[in-house]
Amino acid sequence: MPKPASISDKIAAVVGGGPAGLMAAEVVSRAGVKVNVYDAMPSVGRKFLMAGKGGLNITHSEPFASFLTRYNGRAKVLQPALTEFDAEVLREWVHQLGIKTFVGSSGRVFPAEMKAAPLLRAWLHKLRQQGVKFHVRHRWLGWSDSSPYTLRFQTPHGLRDIEADAVILALGGGSWPQLGSTGEWVSILGERGVSMTALAPSNCGFDVNWSEHFRQRYAGSPLKSVAASFSGIGKRGDCMITGTGVEGGIIYALSALLREEIAQTGSATCYLDLAPDKTMAVLIERLSKSRGKQSMTNHLRKCLGIDGVKAGLLRETVTLEEFNDPATLCSAVKALPVKLITARPIAEAISSAGGVSFDAIDAQFMIESLPGVFCAGEMLDWEAPTGGYLLTACFATGRKAGEGVLNWFNRAHE
Ligand SMILES: Cc1cc2nc3c(=O)[nH]c(=O)nc-3n(C[C@H](O)[C@H](O)[C@H](O)COP(=O)(O)OP(=O)(O)OC[C@H]3O[C@@H](n4cnc5c(N)ncnc54)[C@H](O)[C@@H]3O)c2cc1C
Repeated sequence: MPKPASISDKIAAVVGGGPAGLMAAEVVSRAGVKVNVYDAMPSVGRKFLMAGKGGLNITHSEPFASFLTRYNGRAKVLQPALTEFDAEVLREWVHQLGIKTFVGSSGRVFPAEMKAAPLLRAWLHKLRQQGVKFHVRHRWLGWSDSSPYTLRFQTPHGLRDIEADAVILALGGGSWPQLGSTGEWVSILGERGVSMTALAPSNCGFDVNWSEHFRQRYAGSPLKSVAASFSGIGKRGDCMITGTGVEGGIIYALSALLREEIAQTGSATCYLDLAPDKTMAVLIERLSKSRGKQSMTNHLRKCLGIDGVKAGLLRETVTLEEFNDPATLCSAVKALPVKLITARPIAEAISSAGGVSFDAIDAQFMIESLPGVFCAGEMLDWEAPTGGYLLTACFATGRKAGEGVLNWFNRAHE
């Protein structure tokens, strides 16, 4: 193919219209490059819209140094992208789309309306004005020949091959596949020898061997104002008893550690503190009062306000003898062991761990073995807790990959 004369004659293909792909499309199209976005679904940004149902926690306002630590082992490789597109820059970008944001009491940042749809609408309008063309119902199947620039799609009208001067893959991870991110790309890139780590559930629930009685009685019950700890790391907040185990904020926050422990040893025991505002001494002092003829269940409710699912969980976990002994019961209230046996399937998880290895891409987010093919978003091998960290890194890596494409084009002209 003869080399186009200027950057405005170049064509970039963005495959995957989630936050990462759309951000890459914005950056590349702003420079005058023709950008085509392809997505398998009938519309783009479906997972982004789903995130909006929970209020769209778009980023976090904590200081950058602690923000960065949320990416654990990937903080270093993500730092350049996150430094350029940190929470402040991200908020400013949202404001420029005409959407106000606010910082919640936990430091999490949300759009004022706590919805994704107005933001996505304004964003897509801006992209169309910049000339971005959208091709939905285009499922990427791989390459039609050995060239990394000839992409093959399955469309309602049959197979379609398209050519581009650069390709950005932003295909998401493997969670909630009904929203489009099916992880099919794993085998496509695997066949090309791209190094990656297997996708795994992140921010996920876990299975617990509940008794039938407990399951029937408490599945669906929230455990409010508790703390969970594992391996010296504690998280305060809420979680939920499910028919198969536990899920929710504090469990998600520990999910990477719990998942790894299960992979290594076959199970992970986390400890729940059912009364994190009270010290052990206070619990013992209150529970040691005479209970007369009252049952321990009543005594527990009156002295410590522990009843319902919390009391049920204690009964589920300790023996009757232990339940009736104030000191042992107080120890259980402060550190109730819950044995987690498996992570819930990736399809149910909020996000994925694993993906294209950072060793496989260069500082421009280009796959080194596939020159001209860039990668961004959740399909890269990083994970982070909920709190706005997921979307921030998707935007930031999308932006970086977009800039990478522009540098790639400019280098071709030197
Ligand atoms: C219920 C839920 C709530 C969430 N809430 C939050 C939140 O509040 N804050 C936060 O930070 N994060 C949240 N997340 C996570 C966040 O939405 C994701 O991390 C983010 O959307 C990932 O962006 P992405 O662009 O990498 O991938 P995706 O958003 O998954 O987009 C990938 C796109 O690629 C397309 N695609 C995949 N395969 C192909 C193919 N073969 N051919 C063509 N197209 C393909 C898909 O259709 C999809 O449109 C939430 C996730 C879920 C499931």
